[in-house]
Amino acid sequence: AFDTLMIGGGPAGAAAAVYAARKGIRTGVAAERFGGQVLDTMGIENLISVPRTEGPKLAAALEEHVKEYEVDIMNLQRAVKLVPATRPGGEHEVQFESGASLRAKTLVLGTGARWREMGVPGEAEYRNKGVAYCPHCDGPLFKGKRVAVIGGGNSGVEAAIDLAGIVGHVTLIEFMDELRADAVLQKKLRSLPNVDILLGARTTEVNGDGKRVNGLTFEERATGELHQVDLEGVFVQIGLVPNTEWLQDSPIELSERGEIVVDAHGMTSVPGIFAAGDVTTVPYKQIVIAMGEGSKAALGAFDYLIRQ
Ligand code: FAD
Repeated sequence: AFDTLMIGGGPAGAAAAVYAARKGIRTGVAAERFGGQVLDTMGIENLISVPRTEGPKLAAALEEHVKEYEVDIMNLQRAVKLVPATRPGGEHEVQFESGASLRAKTLVLGTGARWREMGVPGEAEYRNKGVAYCPHCDGPLFKGKRVAVIGGGNSGVEAAIDLAGIVGHVTLIEFMDELRADAVLQKKLRSLPNVDILLGARTTEVNGDGKRVNGLTFEERATGELHQVDLEGVFVQIGLVPNTEWLQDSPIELSERGEIVVDAHGMTSVPGIFAAGDVTTVPYKQIVIAMGEGSKAALGAFDYLIRQ
């Protein structure tokens, strides 16, 4: 059995593994896909002290760093069930799709999240070629250009306000007939000179020239008419879904959005089980934040162990 076992091998799980292993405790990482969302990214320019890197390069560096230590990495293992310890200080069990199961005195859950996609033609084809999901990450790539933000909830309206200060023009497209964001955000958005808001509009296609995005087609829902907008970028902001389906039947407390609720030490509602990164309620889903939170959760787990 492990002293501490990370479920997930993204920035959060990798950071937790390095911090735990450096305490000399028996450490493991089980992940469906070591590297996590970073593998789906190209340019990364906001990992402090690394002015520019690329997703696959960073994923390889994460693995290399973890491998500097005695850590059991179990890749291609998808967790399907968590069975918490029945007594304080007991072992928790994690069961995997493969039929395997692992036991550990503490766990760090770092299964991350995924952006909800529109599922329209062109979206997958032009991902990283004009289609983006993270304004903090990719906003500066569209400096002075025209972009659309899809989604009129808080994240969409926040993204539109943020982008309006960087890009040339923003078209916010919302499916419903009204925005769902907080009133104060809507007011701010409507005060910006370089933003258009389209309501009751269903995006039907992301258009491109084969290399990059050059426009978007939407349907005016009231009339069924199709319209085109010329632009260089599309930011999809219709939700970030935490990977917690496998915890639905566990006693771990989840928020309304399905995120794992953690305290200041990264501990969940179950003693000895910690969580970090995009899967938790901690706001602003970013690599540097996931790394910090993963490190913190591992220190929390170590602290918990020495008190048993
Ligand atoms: P993840 O990276 O999501 O890793 C989750 C890990 O858990 C993976 O190993 C996954 O395989 C595993 N897992 C999931 N479910 C299970 C399961 N049931 N069992 C076992 N393992 C499981 N952030 C930035 O800071 N800068 C950027 O430039 C940037 N660009 C981005 C571009 C794109 C296209 C995307 C999608 C994200 C980008 N992000 C960026 C966000 C950043 O990638 C995330 O904030 C970060 O990866 C979160 O790390 P994490 O470890 O919490 O989760």
